[in-house]
Amino acid sequence: MQNKRIILANPRGFCAGVDRAITIVEKALEKYGAPVYVRHEVVHNKYVVDGLKERGAIFIEEIRDVPEGAILIYSAHGVPLSVRQEAEAKNLTMIFDATCPLVSKVHVELKNLHRNQYEIIMIGHKGHPEVEGTMGQVDGGIHLIENEIDVDNLPIARDAEKIAVVTQTTLSVDETKSIIAKLKATYPNLRLPKNEDICYATQNRQDAVKELAKVCDAVLVIGSKNSSNSNRLKELAENLGVKSYLIDFDYEIQGEWLEDVTSIGLTAGASAPEVLVEGVINKLQSYGFTATDTLNVVEEHMTFALPSALRS
Ligand code: SF4
Repeated sequence: MQNKRIILANPRGFCAGVDRAITIVEKALEKYGAPVYVRHEVVHNKYVVDGLKERGAIFIEEIRDVPEGAILIYSAHGVPLSVRQEAEAKNLTMIFDATCPLVSKVHVELKNLHRNQYEIIMIGHKGHPEVEGTMGQVDGGIHLIENEIDVDNLPIARDAEKIAVVTQTTLSVDETKSIIAKLKATYPNLRLPKNEDICYATQNRQDAVKELAKVCDAVLVIGSKNSSNSNRLKELAENLGVKSYLIDFDYEIQGEWLEDVTSIGLTAGASAPEVLVEGVINKLQSYGFTATDTLNVVEEHMTFALPSALRS
């Protein structure tokens, strides 16, 4: 009988933006002591957030909940200008910005477009903090769409001359391509981002899942339910005809998922640490998945610098 095997996607797990954001909170705790306040979950992962809470990070949604004199950190998803203004008006000791530099790049792009009087369409998920942060860089003139149907309902003339699109960084690459194709067909003058807004980590993890789906009977994605890029990995595997499950922890695995499975693919969203992957491998071994292979799709070498006050 063929050995049951685990196939690990590479790349998987932490991206450079998540690594930087978590390190900012850890270094701030080391340098200034607890508590440090973090606006929103610094990254969307329960294990990471719970670990930082234990070390003295306090996660808040509203700046009014940050006491005077505190240290404040913005999450990797970015914040609207109104949040920055509110925080800067308070007497805080220090503010660190853990916004991923690739999200900040979209902010800069958006502000330039707005300054040049473009109507801007943002493709993203309503209510996601990155979308709120990005849309909140400008005061109006920006329209959020989530799918192709929304294109039909945009209140923008088809012959608009100054019209541009930006996207959330963690979307489905394929779905976004079809939405942009429809936008281009609707708005001939549509200006596209110079470089895609969907980030390298999202692209690479989706590319790896496409390869996994070709060789596995099921795919496990480690990531939290509120993690956009993790949800896209699960959906992608399902769209390719492979059963897929999104889990935070090994103990969520259900035996029935593994019935008739001889090759199980394993990946992790950009905010899920490798220790969780190790836990899932151990659990799968107890179900008889004793062989482990790695499917290498692309090498990643991206790193982002820390704020100067936290280097050392
Ligand atoms: S998923 Fe992409 S945009 Fe988000 S933190 Fe990671 S590198 Fe940055």
